[in-house]
Amino acid sequence: MHPALENSLQENQEEMHSFLTQLVNIATVNPPGQNYEQCANFLNSALIKLGFKSEVLPVPPNEALKALPEATDFPRYNVLGFLDTGAAQTVHFNAHYDVVPVSPGWTHPPFSGYHLDGKIYGRGTADMKGAIAAFLHCLSAFQRTGLKPAFNVEISFVCDEETGGKLGTEYLVEKGLPKSDFVLVGEGAAGNRVGIGHNGVIWLEVKIKGRAAHASTPHKGLNAFEIMSELTADLQIFKEQLQAREFQSPDGNTMRPTINIGGTFGQNEGAKINTVPETAWFTIDRRVLPNENCHVAEQELCERVQSFAEKNPQIEFDIKRLFFARPYLISENHPLPKSFAKAIGAVYPQKVEYSVSTGFNDSRLFGLDMPIPTIGYGPEGHNHHASDEYVTIQSLNRASQVYTAFLETGMH
Ligand SMILES: [Zn+2]
Repeated sequence: MHPALENSLQENQEEMHSFLTQLVNIATVNPPGQNYEQCANFLNSALIKLGFKSEVLPVPPNEALKALPEATDFPRYNVLGFLDTGAAQTVHFNAHYDVVPVSPGWTHPPFSGYHLDGKIYGRGTADMKGAIAAFLHCLSAFQRTGLKPAFNVEISFVCDEETGGKLGTEYLVEKGLPKSDFVLVGEGAAGNRVGIGHNGVIWLEVKIKGRAAHASTPHKGLNAFEIMSELTADLQIFKEQLQAREFQSPDGNTMRPTINIGGTFGQNEGAKINTVPETAWFTIDRRVLPNENCHVAEQELCERVQSFAEKNPQIEFDIKRLFFARPYLISENHPLPKSFAKAIGAVYPQKVEYSVSTGFNDSRLFGLDMPIPTIGYGPEGHNHHASDEYVTIQSLNRASQVYTAFLETGMH
């Protein structure tokens, strides 16, 4: 790396840390989608200061409402910026600025951006405001030194990734707004790993309707809870059967399909200890490997529930799809991950690995819908979606070095 870039990154680290603190202070909790306008404006003005042509793009209320009824009280905003460096190719950096709600048990106030022992704590530090801070720090090193990145740089800062991205990245992609040759999503891998893909996911809700009766005469009713527990027992057998499938990621990780049953579950209103439960419902989270077809996986799951339903004809079963995200994978031999691996190699002494994330992110929307070659990389975070979420200052510094090395050398 050019010594001037290296010095600038080093000398101005404090600025990146305080930027991250300010960003964490804006509590962009989703759901429901709080403080989006304030955060979008904050990020937009940061891009303008860095020389970008940038604007805040509000999602028009009529479009927002169609996808999301609560958008009346919580309007949606995305930020799209472009820096013309005169390069032949453009790289797009994407990061979501929404964060998940606060879980109980925090040692420090979750939106304080508290620094302690080389760590910055706060909701969103790891997922994924840290990546935003690291990427902007890299851009400010180019601005300060007057050196030019090897790419034009397009950036999207989006809302709603934590709830599926319909009005965030998916909205921008549907409108055809991102115009780049490559995409770098600021999450999905960290440290000495390049993210070359992620699992898909299927979220279903299954509702079972039996018949209520007085608990002293249970034979007059149809107990929905008991039927549900038989069904979930059957799904656990199905879960075991799926373990025969696997996907080998290039870093040697053997991944298998997973099913999580009952992430949420419940019953009808008016339920009582002395009433045979009339309805029972539960959710299924099925993670889909990159070598599986998401539609087939959904069909298999629905068929399993349906064949159970056929054995219980007096009960009503209803399956509803809540969310669906396809898996995404780019070959580790594609020039994009290969070039990015060299940038990591310039910062990390360890061998660079190509990894696939068990969780999903917005990569699929760029990589499959546009489609534009896409990879994922950000600072190493801890306690994602949990209490005491944090990012280490060292990993923020290193991520900004990796981003800088990549922008400096480009594709090669
Ligand atoms: Zn995230």
